[in-house]
Amino acid sequence: MCRVIAVSNQKGGVGKTVSCVNLGIGLAQEGKKVLMIDADPQGSLTISLGYEEPDEMEYSLATLMLNVVNDEKLNMEKTILHHREGVDLIPANIELSAIEVSLVNAMSRELILRSLVDKLREFYDFILIDCMPSLGMMTINALACADSVLIPVQAAYLPVKGLQQLIKTIGRVKKQLNPKLKIEGILLTMVDYRTNYARDISLMVYDTYSASIKVFGSEIPMSVRAAEVSVEGKSIYSYDPKGKVACAYKGLTEEVLKEAYFERRIRIWNCRDSNWNDIGKSLFDNFFFEKMFPVIVGVKGKMINFTPLPDSQPTDFLFRKATSPFLKTDLMKFLFCIHEIILLDISDTIRTNRANCTKSCLDMLMGAIISEM
Ligand code: ADP
Ligand code: MG
Repeated sequence: MCRVIAVSNQKGGVGKTVSCVNLGIGLAQEGKKVLMIDADPQGSLTISLGYEEPDEMEYSLATLMLNVVNDEKLNMEKTILHHREGVDLIPANIELSAIEVSLVNAMSRELILRSLVDKLREFYDFILIDCMPSLGMMTINALACADSVLIPVQAAYLPVKGLQQLIKTIGRVKKQLNPKLKIEGILLTMVDYRTNYARDISLMVYDTYSASIKVFGSEIPMSVRAAEVSVEGKSIYSYDPKGKVACAYKGLTEEVLKEAYFERRIRIWNCRDSNWNDIGKSLFDNFFFEKMFPVIVGVKGKMINFTPLPDSQPTDFLFRKATSPFLKTDLMKFLFCIHEIILLDISDTIRTNRANCTKSCLDMLMGAIISEM
């Protein structure tokens, strides 16, 4: 399943592009198929990946977006570039600013990028979008097609005000255009550990936001190496592999991978209006033949003992544990040993099941799963 992450902050120079490059290539080094989309007419991502003259490129994001607007065939082969460090790129150049202006009159103008990205999801594990420093139509397009937003924040000024504006915009897009949009996390960049000030800002961001938004444990240190690498056309891993910036971006990559891992494994099926036979059939069709081991948990107070599925150890584990409260460590072990958890939202419509666990126990399990998500 592909995860689309928009890297966004309307303030310029906070490390969006550098973070995009090094997260993208970090993910590729972990064996993931990665596409990066440059959504900034300045083409900084394109330049950072070594394509020095974006304005001379004939095919770019602007071309594809125009194709979408005019309902033409998309020329993907000519537009998608393959970088030697294993990532693909849709470049951008100055033509994108003209597109941004013309979008104002286009139909479904906020959803142009989405219709493009949705066609590419099946080919990639991750699509990263490097947004421009504004909250204009291009950024709205990026937020409207993303699964999550990663927000780099420079730890050198008071970021709270600008962040609130961004979070508000994300909230608006979520409400009106993209209900599944999440905040991947806030990433502190250019942290200068020699100053108390940077440390104060880290703490302040953490205090202000960590209750509601993830603040990545990995912070990107200030380093001339990171500044130099932008003009080298490669990642920090090949420029300064042992340095602290490479190490920090590896940490970020791991955090993002972990998040995607849990997301992939937890799926909620709304079964409210189905009957047992239908549920059984679709589970059987979806999983049995793929030799997967789903674990089924009934929501809202009912655990289901589900017969059409082959007996699997994790299910036994769950049933065995179900009569006593779940410990967090049990849950973690459990999450790692199964392929996927399916939460069946059966509500009250289905009553005839062999429930074998108490409501409080399930609520606890649900709470623990959600807090891990
Ligand atoms: P944005 O995309 O948000 O405008 P960039 O990623 O282009 O920001 O970074 C802005 C500038 O800061 C660039 O010149 C870049 O080389 C430099 N920079 C980025 N990360 C670091 C860092 N960790 N340490 C020092 N300089 C950095
Ligand atoms: Mg940039």
